[in-house]
Amino acid sequence: MTKLKTLRSAALAGAAIITTLSFPFAAEAQRRSTSSATPLDEAAVRAKVDALLAQMTPEEKAGQITQYFDFTNTPEESKRVVAEMAAARAGSLLFVNDPVELDRLQHIAVEKTRLKIPLLFGYDVIHGLRTIMPVPIAVAASWDPKVAEAGQTVAAAEARAVGLHWTFAPMLDIARDPRWGRIIEGAGEDPYLGAAMGVAQVRGFQGAYLGSRSHIIAGPKHFVGYGASLGGRDYDEVNLSDSELWNVYLPPFKAAIDAGAGNVMSAYMGLNGTPASGNHWLLTDVLRKDWGFKGFVVSDAGAAHDLLTHEFARDNQDAGVRALNAGMDMEMAPPFGISAFKTLPQSLAEGKVSQTRMDEAVRRVLEAKVRMGLFERPYVDLKEAQRVLNDPAHRIVARNAAERTAVLLRNEGGLLPSAIRNAKSIAVIGPLADSARDTVGPWVFDQKDKETVTVLAGIKAKAARGVRVDFSPGVNIPNRMFKSIFEDGPHPATTRVQVDEATEIDRAVGLANNADVTVMVLGEGWSQDGEQASRSSLDLPGRQQELLAKVIATGKPVVLLLMSARPLDLKDARPQAIMDIWYPGSQGGAAAANLLFGDVSPGGKLPYTWVRNIGQIPTIYSHLTTHQPKTFGERYWNEPSAPTYPFGYGLSYSTFAFSNLRVGKASVAPGEAVPVSVDVKNTGSRKADEVAQLYIHQRYGTAARPVRELKGFERVTLAPGETRTVQFTLSPKDLTYWASSTKSFVQDETTFDVYAGNDSTAALAATFEVRKP
Ligand code: BGC
Repeated sequence: MTKLKTLRSAALAGAAIITTLSFPFAAEAQRRSTSSATPLDEAAVRAKVDALLAQMTPEEKAGQITQYFDFTNTPEESKRVVAEMAAARAGSLLFVNDPVELDRLQHIAVEKTRLKIPLLFGYDVIHGLRTIMPVPIAVAASWDPKVAEAGQTVAAAEARAVGLHWTFAPMLDIARDPRWGRIIEGAGEDPYLGAAMGVAQVRGFQGAYLGSRSHIIAGPKHFVGYGASLGGRDYDEVNLSDSELWNVYLPPFKAAIDAGAGNVMSAYMGLNGTPASGNHWLLTDVLRKDWGFKGFVVSDAGAAHDLLTHEFARDNQDAGVRALNAGMDMEMAPPFGISAFKTLPQSLAEGKVSQTRMDEAVRRVLEAKVRMGLFERPYVDLKEAQRVLNDPAHRIVARNAAERTAVLLRNEGGLLPSAIRNAKSIAVIGPLADSARDTVGPWVFDQKDKETVTVLAGIKAKAARGVRVDFSPGVNIPNRMFKSIFEDGPHPATTRVQVDEATEIDRAVGLANNADVTVMVLGEGWSQDGEQASRSSLDLPGRQQELLAKVIATGKPVVLLLMSARPLDLKDARPQAIMDIWYPGSQGGAAAANLLFGDVSPGGKLPYTWVRNIGQIPTIYSHLTTHQPKTFGERYWNEPSAPTYPFGYGLSYSTFAFSNLRVGKASVAPGEAVPVSVDVKNTGSRKADEVAQLYIHQRYGTAARPVRELKGFERVTLAPGETRTVQFTLSPKDLTYWASSTKSFVQDETTFDVYAGNDSTAALAATFEVRKP
């Protein structure tokens, strides 16, 4: 408790950074939130649900497995939805986050409906509710699952305090095409990193068990393959081989389910011709029979009704039948649209769905409500909600996360941090440098601009007295050609300050000319990444490239901070330093300042391959060797096919050396684990972090395997001169893969190469054999 108190006062006093704070904090939060409760007895859960089921009419059952959007800023629609709920025709609502309103609605459900069944409130708590963490792709770039767990622990605490019970997260879609805007919500291109981050998020959201105090249900999404939409165009069809499905796209979901995730969301799009939300093989054969998933499956928004839109179902009733029969348990009804599950009572009467299947779906939803303790504690403690939302310890977690997610891409001549530290004048330039809304990124609805620290604010707060800090936005972030669903309508509208570029560019260049160093903050606006935010270009939007070129042309040192969630094509611009700070969240500016001034060293690594330009998409590090490996870098005749930065790449203010890669056993039998270790030495002169990464390559076997596959990583903090031996264990599962020729998982007798280092091109190598004794 003393530690927590110290953290609080440190936060309040705005004291100097304490980089490892979130971890003791997370443990403390975990203890506080779980100490007063234990998991419910399974037999008691069953008995409670049995008793309810026995009393329910078909309409009440259909209602229980229907969820409606309640956009409170569209009062007419909201009234309609609340009336449905009050008539027991909805078991769950989403999109309310005001504790007073959540409490009011719950009182109606519990006091006015016949069976007094509480509502389950869901919400997109993707990277925070009030305290906003860096976006998920950034958190993946920390290569530190503890950052993910700590952040989602805070998000869960805030959500639960206001009366929410369930989040539609983590998004576990592997994304190998950065044109796809939703790359921001996941962990990037790699299934191993994706699984580790997914598991950590499930733990953060749910706590030790489903129903833990101060925690909520996690809903991994979108099952499955959504990240592979054709051309990176959001919502378009997905065609994946079974090898890609089993080896790349399914594993993060399997890991999250093994970690106990209570919910799964089915995807919108067609997978190999069958809509994922009407896909019995996916939702029942794989998820239930093969993996033993015990929670409930919700559709993505309107995805049951959309079986009709997809030209898969005959009509709305058929859509409901096919979704339920495929294995969907709850329909997230289309916003402002027609529910398909509303027709289930009729389908039941006509024998199109069975009583057993209907009851199974209702049971799973009711079980979630019982486990979450909603029958005992349905209401919101409004005072406590405000306390939790304003907990200063949460901001420390957010700042720590933002510090650990930044990736230093370039630092010519060691410009950072000394150039900033020694500067007597700093020019801060760019349309994103002082934009609170952009700093937190997409998928936030309850953040307060005044609580967000922009990069400009962070630098100003950090700069010593007497250091001049000048600011110019330089240019505008242009509007999208097609508006995002998040820019208006049911979602809160946002506006940006517009400048007159004709004069502002000159003013910005003038400031750079008069400053010792310039920090530029460029990238994409918050609505230019995320859902419905795919793009056919990786260029800096608007006139940012021109601004960058003009500022670089002053000849003064330039540090470029990138705010975005996809690799951007900077053409031939070469600022001396580039750091990707993603959308760093409410404390993003404070974290950026700590990084720029060198209080902390960047230690993040890219969770995707940074392609040179749009034409290189897709490029992944874990490609197959092919019959022509020698010309791999010359696949295009006009330019090298190597990317700008490889997967796993990121610099530090210090330097590191890897040595002494040891494989514990030269030969193992199939089914045996392989211990591997490597020494990491901090060869620089300051304390800093490095991420030890372990890759494998199978030389031959039942199928051809990728040149490299990540199978282990650990982020370590080392003092100057310190050496740490990092231990890994390659499990039999790590050496097993799905072979499409046998349609099964296989582990071959073969030879493996092992590589260790600080990115996916690591040179240090060793081998071992897998042989039957
Ligand atoms: C998205 C989901 C999200 C849901 C509810 C959908 O459009 O695909 O990821 O959870 O909306 O907001």
